[in-house]
Amino acid sequence: MKSKALTAAFEKILGTDYVLSSEMDRALYGYDASLERAKPDVVVLPESVDQVSRIVKLAYEAKVPIVARGSGTNLSGGTIPVKGGIVVHFSRMNRILEIDIPNRTVTVEPGVITLDLQSLLLKRGFVYAPDPASQKVSTLGGNLGENSGGPHCLKYGVTTNHVLGAEVVLFDGSVIWTAGKSQDNPGYDLTGLLVGSEGTLGIVTKIILRIIRAPEAVKTMLAVYETIEDAGNTVSAIIAEGIVPATLEMMDNLVMKAVEESVHVGYPLDAAAVLIIELDGMADGMDRQSEKIMEICKRHNVREVRLAKSDTERAELWAGRKGAFGAVARLRPSYLVCDGTVPRTKLPEVLNKVLEVGKKYKLPIGNVFHAGDGNLHPLILFDERNAEERKRVHKAGTEILEICAAAGGTISGEHGIGIEKLKETALIFSKSDMAFMRHIKKAFDPAGLWNPGKLIPEPETMQ
Ligand SMILES: Cc1cc2nc3c(=O)[nH]c(=O)nc-3n(C[C@H](O)[C@H](O)[C@H](O)COP(=O)(O)OP(=O)(O)OC[C@H]3O[C@@H](n4cnc5c(N)ncnc54)[C@H](O)[C@@H]3O)c2cc1C
Repeated sequence: MKSKALTAAFEKILGTDYVLSSEMDRALYGYDASLERAKPDVVVLPESVDQVSRIVKLAYEAKVPIVARGSGTNLSGGTIPVKGGIVVHFSRMNRILEIDIPNRTVTVEPGVITLDLQSLLLKRGFVYAPDPASQKVSTLGGNLGENSGGPHCLKYGVTTNHVLGAEVVLFDGSVIWTAGKSQDNPGYDLTGLLVGSEGTLGIVTKIILRIIRAPEAVKTMLAVYETIEDAGNTVSAIIAEGIVPATLEMMDNLVMKAVEESVHVGYPLDAAAVLIIELDGMADGMDRQSEKIMEICKRHNVREVRLAKSDTERAELWAGRKGAFGAVARLRPSYLVCDGTVPRTKLPEVLNKVLEVGKKYKLPIGNVFHAGDGNLHPLILFDERNAEERKRVHKAGTEILEICAAAGGTISGEHGIGIEKLKETALIFSKSDMAFMRHIKKAFDPAGLWNPGKLIPEPETMQ
């Protein structure tokens, strides 16, 4: 990078405190929650759209890559600056600008932490529905970048269903709005294109989100199973009955044991799997629905269904689920989170195949995932320091995604493609699909500077 002159220009815009380029700073911004690593040349922390626009303009003139970064919790290498360049970190653009109750919208900056918005809204009786398990740290800009999901997305839809419009800084520093607060918009759906684009089309500096009323009542159940098949079959049976719970989450024995050691809430350690089933909505009729669910669980050989009797018990069940990724770190030094989606009726068959992959590569695999969406998250446990094991992990991860694609599913439910799954895009996209996506990318990014090396593989790497 023509770093010295550019760094000096950034310091003029932001002040020296908000331009970081020491070895330590570059190392700190050289990783995210994936297994990939690469250092940026410089990190900038803007506090306004005007500053972002000026930074982008300078970067475009100097032809230097730019990577937007929220909290860096993405699991596919989306914030790794593989070609060096500038990381734009949004921790200072973290204001909730407007809560518009009559129009049921909020306007936020991208660095707002997901749970901060949700906690504030709940006090006013409203909800921003997408709830990635990382919500305590993830940002709304990152959620938009990855089109994040979460337990409650089964009923309410993922991030794209809740973004109405966004302010975007384009490749040359100019600023546009993709849409406003209205529910329908003429013209190209630029908002839809940006959500899930992993920072490869532009930088989002404001987001208008849809909010909904908090449900009047909530009921949370823990269903305990002796076999993974019975738990998996219960999932599709519940939906087939016409009931769409707010959540249908599954956790297997390996993950449950790790979680229990960390949160001590009484998960059954001798069970093969549990489902966390949550109903929400009107209080009226909820008892009838939960009885129906219990009946379906019984039909599929459930050992026991526990009903959370208080908010504390409910919070404990969720603490276990949401802390699951962290808890498995007790079992091995590292893990790779796979993220594939299959039609939910295929869950039992695919889960068995995933366990076979674990045996084949001699690697323990735990499962904790959004079962209602058919969105699997096999966690392959290993030791990152062991190069041979690392190779096996990547082979096992690819094989799991091949299984998902062969079952009529896809290679990401919510964690994106990033750099980790570039090769696997060939499982679901044809060469013409890819060529068309490259045209779109080129229109937004003529010089190829937005988060290069992510999401769309270079043509020569595709067979
Ligand atoms: C323990 C754990 C649990 C998780 N659980 C879930 C889950 O349940 N569901 C789920 O979907 N994900 C989950 N994730 C993955 C991750 O938290 C999400 O992808 C999250 O949305 C990333 O937010 P972030 O702020 O960390 O974004 P980052 O990782 O910083 O960025 C993510 C992507 O968005 C882009 N980006 C960031 N800000 C902007 C911006 N302003 N404009 C344009 N692009 C931008 C980045 O360039 C990058 O490509 C989990 C991760 C962990 C570690």
